[in-house]
Amino acid sequence: MDADAASLAQAVLTWFRRYGRQDLPWQQQDAYRVWLSEIMLQQTQVGTVIPYYQDFLKRFPNIRQLADASIDDVLQHWQGLGYYARARNLHKAAGLIRDTHKGRFPSSMEELQQLPGIGRSTAGAILSFAFGQHWPILDGNVKRVLARCFRVPGWYGRSETMKQLWYLAESITPAQDTADFNQAMMDIGAMVCLKSKPKCEACPLKDMCASYRHHSQADYPQKKPKRAKPHKHTLMLLHRHAETILLWRRPPSGIWGGLWSLPEVDVETAIELWQQSFLSITQAPVSIQQNIIHHQFTHYSLDISLAIVELETLPEKISDSDNYAWVEIDALASHGLPTPVRKLLSSLG
Ligand code: SF4
Repeated sequence: MDADAASLAQAVLTWFRRYGRQDLPWQQQDAYRVWLSEIMLQQTQVGTVIPYYQDFLKRFPNIRQLADASIDDVLQHWQGLGYYARARNLHKAAGLIRDTHKGRFPSSMEELQQLPGIGRSTAGAILSFAFGQHWPILDGNVKRVLARCFRVPGWYGRSETMKQLWYLAESITPAQDTADFNQAMMDIGAMVCLKSKPKCEACPLKDMCASYRHHSQADYPQKKPKRAKPHKHTLMLLHRHAETILLWRRPPSGIWGGLWSLPEVDVETAIELWQQSFLSITQAPVSIQQNIIHHQFTHYSLDISLAIVELETLPEKISDSDNYAWVEIDALASHGLPTPVRKLLSSLG
C-alpha cells in the first residue's frame, strides 16, 4: 500500500470511529447473519432491512433451518422486500452449504463465489466482516465514492470501468482493520457521498477527492450513454363515408395490441398501393397530411402521417371483415383507441 492509500485509509478509519454505524444488528455476527444482511441490503436501505432481518432470523435462526425450509416459507418471510430472486438464491445456497459443506459456511473467496447470489463484493463483505480476512468490497455505495474520488471514466456496465474500480478498491483497502474500513466506505456512500447533493464538507475524503477539487461531483459516476432511439414513420388511412369512418383492429401482439386504430401502411409502400388502387377504389380523392402526430415509445419514436380518403360508396371487399368496422364518428368513444390515434381523430373535428 503506498503512502497516499495509507493516508486515505487512515482518514476513513478515523472518521468511522467517530461517525460510522457501529450498532447495526448484523455487525460482529457469524457468517450466516452477515450473509443474510448483505443479501437483504442489495438494492434496499438499512432502515427497511432491519425489521425483515430480525423476523427472518426468528423463523430461520441458522443455515440448517433455512436449508430445510420450503421455498414457499422462505418467500413468505421475504414478502414486501422485493427482488425475490435474492430469496430463491439464498434458499438454494443454504441447501448447497448443508449438502456440500456439511452445513459449515465456506470461508474462501473461491467457494463463496460458487454459491448462487454471491458475487465478488458480497463474498468480500462476508470474508472481511465474519472471518476477518483482507478483501475489498465494491457495492453500489462504494462504487459511487470511488468513481467520484478518483474521477473514474465510463459507466458501471463497461468492463474497463469496473476493472479500474476494483483495482482502486484493492489498492486502498488496508490489511489491518479491513472490516471497519469496508463498513466505513459503505457508510460514507450511504451517509455522506449521497447520489445527489453529496455532503463534501463533512467527508473524510475531501482533501484527496478529485471531483471535489474540480467541482465535478455531479459528473461522476458517469451515466450509461443513451442510445439514439430508432425513428419510424407510418401512414394511417382515414376512409370517410358520410358520418362513418373505417377502423381496423390491430393484431393482438405488438404495439397497441388488439386496439382499434386506422388502417396503416408503410410510407415507402404507400405510393405503390395507391397505384394499385388500394381497396379497389378509383373514385377516391386523397389528401395527405404529413407528420401530424409525433409519438414517443420506449424503444423508438413514431411519426404518423394521414391520408384522408372520401368515399362515395362503401367498398364491399372490407366491410364484412371481423377486423374492420365502419363506425359512426359520434360512437368512437366506445371503441378502445390508442391515445395518439384518438388525438389525431379529434384534431380533425
Ligand atoms: S468529497 Fe464529496 S464527492 Fe468526494 S467522496 Fe466525499 S462526498 Fe463524495
